[in-house]
Amino acid sequence: MSWYGCIEAGGTKFMVGAGRAEGRIDDRRRIPTGTPGDTLAACVEHLREIAHRLGPPAAIGIGAFGPLDLDERSPFHGRLLSTPKAGWRDVDLVRPFAEAFGVPVAIDTDVNAAALGEHRHGAGLGFDTLAYVTVGTGIGGGLVIDGRPLHGALHPEIGHLRPRRPAGDLDFAGVCPFHGDCFEGVASGPAIHARWGASLDALPASHPAHALIADYLGQLCAQLVLAASPRRIILGGGVLGDHRLLPDISASLQRWLGGYPVRIADSPGAPPLLVAPGLGTDAGLVGALVLAQTAAR
Ligand code: ZN
Repeated sequence: MSWYGCIEAGGTKFMVGAGRAEGRIDDRRRIPTGTPGDTLAACVEHLREIAHRLGPPAAIGIGAFGPLDLDERSPFHGRLLSTPKAGWRDVDLVRPFAEAFGVPVAIDTDVNAAALGEHRHGAGLGFDTLAYVTVGTGIGGGLVIDGRPLHGALHPEIGHLRPRRPAGDLDFAGVCPFHGDCFEGVASGPAIHARWGASLDALPASHPAHALIADYLGQLCAQLVLAASPRRIILGGGVLGDHRLLPDISASLQRWLGGYPVRIADSPGAPPLLVAPGLGTDAGLVGALVLAQTAAR
């Protein structure tokens, strides 16, 4: 039975598993992100254990933190670029797997992979143009345009767009090492911790943090709507947890659009524009499976 190696490479953990054609992930293992050599060797070893039982994988897909070189004509394709993650700059994420298994290895950003996973098997099914936004230790966004993940010159980095700051929040400088108060700098998990010393779900429902973060995320979604015209925006990541903020983010999105007649799905009777991931925390791994399947063809 054919299977695909699936890897979601994150700054704190790597998830590795065996993907089945219909979108199921089995045999998953969580590997804490340590040094590149140890972490990638542990991923290869786990896939070898699976291959010992099932035979070799048909292909391997990787969704990874970045920034990444995704230009297939580049000699550095599959390498991490100037990542702030210590020790990981210039690390080739593809080669260890290509050398170990001799099969096609496809790579994309973690958020493009998640967008692709949701597009094929989750909350984005039937939506040809969509965005996947994750709000966690950072803010990232992947885009699927007409069924294909968008790369362009690098890949979208929507978390580093700059918000308009509400007057009540101007004293907070933001936590992004590059920009200070980009969206990631003001609305990610670390930004929430820096302001209030707790995660959003640990703060009481009446705390103004909820409204402020919903306002920022609605503003980010409005920018996405204006720039890329997605039919669906899927909001994932640890900060959004149980998705209680979705209605407030949706209201904020409408406010930020200011009544401009953009034809978006959040009108009465239409399917909602903003939704939670259909695949839960598996979106990235399922996306890695879709990448692998595409590479195997
Ligand atoms: Zn930034």
